Amino acid sequence: MRLKTIFGGYIGGDERDESVRRKLVETLYTQPLSLAAGALAGIACCVTAMIVTDNRAITVTSVLLIVTAIARFVVALWLAPGARRRDARTLEFAYEIGAFTYAFLSGLVAALTMYDTTIGHLQTLMVAYALVYGVGISARNAGRPFIAIGQLLLSVVPIIVVGIYIGGAVFYVLAGTMFFVLFGVASITFNVFRTLKEQINAAETSRRLAEQMREFARTDVVTGLTNRGGLNHDMVELLMALEEDRKLAMLWLDLDRFKEVNDTLGHPVGDKVLSEVAKRLRSVAPEGACVARFGGDEFIIVASVEDRAHSERLARAASEAISRPMRLDGQRIDTGTSMGVALLPDDGPDIDTLMQGADLALYHAKVAGRGQICFFDTSMTRHLVRKKEIEVELRAAIHRDELSIFFQPIIDLATGRIRSFEALVRWFHPEKGELKPDEFIPVAEETGVIITLGNWITAQAAKTCAQWPEDVTIAVNLSPVQIRAPGAALGILTALRDAGLDPKRLELEVTESLFIDDNAHTARFMEELSNEGVRFALDDFGTGYSSLGYINKFPFSKIKVDRSFVSGPNIGKKSDAIIRAVAEMGSTLDMDIVAEGLETIEQVQAVRNAGCTLGQGYYFSRAVPDYMAAMLLAQERNDGREARLAS
Ligand code: C2E
Ligand code: CA
Ligand code: CA
Repeated sequence: MRLKTIFGGYIGGDERDESVRRKLVETLYTQPLSLAAGALAGIACCVTAMIVTDNRAITVTSVLLIVTAIARFVVALWLAPGARRRDARTLEFAYEIGAFTYAFLSGLVAALTMYDTTIGHLQTLMVAYALVYGVGISARNAGRPFIAIGQLLLSVVPIIVVGIYIGGAVFYVLAGTMFFVLFGVASITFNVFRTLKEQINAAETSRRLAEQMREFARTDVVTGLTNRGGLNHDMVELLMALEEDRKLAMLWLDLDRFKEVNDTLGHPVGDKVLSEVAKRLRSVAPEGACVARFGGDEFIIVASVEDRAHSERLARAASEAISRPMRLDGQRIDTGTSMGVALLPDDGPDIDTLMQGADLALYHAKVAGRGQICFFDTSMTRHLVRKKEIEVELRAAIHRDELSIFFQPIIDLATGRIRSFEALVRWFHPEKGELKPDEFIPVAEETGVIITLGNWITAQAAKTCAQWPEDVTIAVNLSPVQIRAPGAALGILTALRDAGLDPKRLELEVTESLFIDDNAHTARFMEELSNEGVRFALDDFGTGYSSLGYINKFPFSKIKVDRSFVSGPNIGKKSDAIIRAVAEMGSTLDMDIVAEGLETIEQVQAVRNAGCTLGQGYYFSRAVPDYMAAMLLAQERNDGREARLAS
């Protein structure tokens, strides 16, 4: 039993797979030089034997050995070129036959010279050769112990047998010594084999692991489809295999209402929906196509198609497959998909442009409404689409009452009282939710909508401020575009008159970008309004050129130090020194210095110590709707009266 496990382990087919076995067999064919050297030595010995003796048995065996040596060499040359493609067992068998024959013949010829007592020195030569060959070959072929030990036995056992048969002290000792050599060398061979096999096994395991990891890294866990990383890889392969007269179609899908499913039914159901979609897409995708999940609820199919019509059929089939109702966990779920399609080479010569095209087309499809399929068309650029969309929606938003103005208090750091509010616009989009001004103000500026929007904001802000106590002012942000528009100053003065607000209570916040190109016009605008009493604040100071020249040249009453000097990654000694310098200048020129973005008491204390007179930030309050602003004011005045009464 034990013997079986030992030999099963070393000799039999224990190798867990063919590739380890193949590697071990390959060791037989490496180093052909050592094989050739052994064969040459054998041929030399046999030729010598044939010359020295006329013993027929020795001569015949010698001739056979020489023929075997040459035959093995020829066979090795013949097998070697295609060795990698041949079955490991064929290679091993071919080697075995030659090796065993050769080993046995070398042992036999040695034994025959021992038996013929007339040939003195030749005995030494042939026995030494057989022995050295047997030991050497078993070390060389340790990768296949069955062959190694077999060769050792075949070359040495004839010597032992003949030694015992002839008898006599010298031959008995020789036979005994050989016997121990057999055991010793066999044990060394097994040791070498074990080490070799462990190493090959380890290398094999890590190779397989690496392969699995690569596979894993390219697969999406939820759907089992190719993921983003794998998509690139697959697309390159598809492109390389694309035939001359075919096109590569990319269908980029984005599920409709998936977010609703996720939010209302939970992520586990969401995952099932994704898996189901994956299954359906796979079923409609043509053979050889790549179906990938591009993250979230986006999927991509890349396939080789005959023509545009073929890609249209494919797109419709995919869309219909997804629109069929699903039944998951007893629930009926209806989803659909928006889709963008682009073709290579029609819409672009490479994968990057193909993706851009499909992405743009998808964007277009989504804007057009749910369930739409759009094909790429050169007039589509994301920027244009987005601009158009915001432009159209923004104009409507003003009439639809989707916009409102929030107010963020600006606090006097010496008294803690509210000195003014900054008007900040908010857009509550019925589908997109709350949109930040940073998203739509730039578009409004580019398209000119900001003029209508700005006028509306100023008018609303002025009306609200008119309700507040006399000493509280309102700050309104102005875009350069608004200022450059004809009649800008007049528009603001009209808004003030309509609201019945004293111009002194309006402060316009502008940024340095205003002064970059049209100084003369800006100067006129500011002069006109300043003459009426309107004041100006330089906003986001420290982010642009931070040129003190503007402060001298234009009538600013306030500088707002950008919040990056108060919080964020770059604050420290340097930013503190800058705030101090600005604050010092402010006090010399009789200007207020506002620190923006104050979120903690430490920041408040720091900017106060640095000499800022006003502060604004979440520490005091976020921007709030008008009724809340009024409440804040009322509460403050109430507290003030109580404090006065108490003292
Ligand atoms: P801004 O003029 O620098 O306005 C200050 C921004 O900082 C506001 O963001 C405000 O909500 C935010 N903020 C205030 N305190 C804190 C704080 O403690 N921490 C942090 N992290 N942020 C704080 P919002 O309302 O998103 O406005 C962004 C920008 O959009 C404004 O920057 C302004 O440039 C522009 N904007 C807003 N409303 C209008 C408007 O009515 N007209 C024009 N032309 N631009 C506007
Ligand atoms: Ca501002
Ligand atoms: Ca600012």
